[in-house]
Amino acid sequence: MFQRFRRTRLNKHLRSLVRETQVNVEDFIYPLFIRSGEGIKTEVASMPGVFQMSIDEVLKECEELKSLGIYSILLFGIPDTKDSIGSDALCEHGIIASSIRAIKEAHPDMFVVTDLCFCEYTDHGHCGIIDEAKETVNNDATLEISGEQALIHAKAGADMIAPSGMMDGIIERLRLTLR
Ligand SMILES: [Zn+2]
Repeated sequence: MFQRFRRTRLNKHLRSLVRETQVNVEDFIYPLFIRSGEGIKTEVASMPGVFQMSIDEVLKECEELKSLGIYSILLFGIPDTKDSIGSDALCEHGIIASSIRAIKEAHPDMFVVTDLCFCEYTDHGHCGIIDEAKETVNNDATLEISGEQALIHAKAGADMIAPSGMMDGIIERLRLTLR
């Protein structure tokens, strides 16, 4: 049977009447890529208009975001040093923990979401601890350090944690760790 969808798309008034999904400024979460240093705002070559910023620049950016009505941000960290287990992500003075504290102090009204992941922090680029013998990520060892990372984010003041590492059992582990 034919369905005639064009009928409800005739003009903007009709479309606004029947539209099921509305995207408002409150729905946006603005991603921020944070590195150490001062006065750094470097454009990412592969993503024009997206910058890596030092914390002082991020604080200025938050000011502008609020003026636009955007109060939610998602933090990605770029550490100075990488190693086999992503130690910077497991340190309360690491780039993300330091960023959360600085943002919450300057902008307590910002809603801070953190990316929970290890691939940016490991020297091998995989999202967790590698099991050399099996040539794959050690799922359960990675769950352990994911819990540690979540706790560091939460203690620093994160409002929400966004696990992107996709380890089996990650949600259960985070709920048990953070309850
Ligand atoms: Zn990852």
